[in-house]
Amino acid sequence: MSHSFPRPGEPFLSVDRVPVDGACPDCGAIHLAPYPVMSEERWWRLVKCQVCPGSITRPPGPLFGVYVPLGLRITGSRG
Ligand SMILES: [Zn+2]
Repeated sequence: MSHSFPRPGEPFLSVDRVPVDGACPDCGAIHLAPYPVMSEERWWRLVKCQVCPGSITRPPGPLFGVYVPLGLRITGSRG
């Protein structure tokens, strides 16, 4: 069993920013996008304006970010 991972093809890490509906309350731009952010010992799903530095909303994200432990996946499928 190998524990090695293939070398990434991209020179930089990035997050796909899927635009969300809404307008920035500060500048009125309709360019809002979510980011997964690690802060205060947990993940948050920050929705930020893409034009000005205004932070819009910060709903809690998944407890472990993009990593879903096997146990949570099994219990989640049962509903
Ligand atoms: Zn803005």
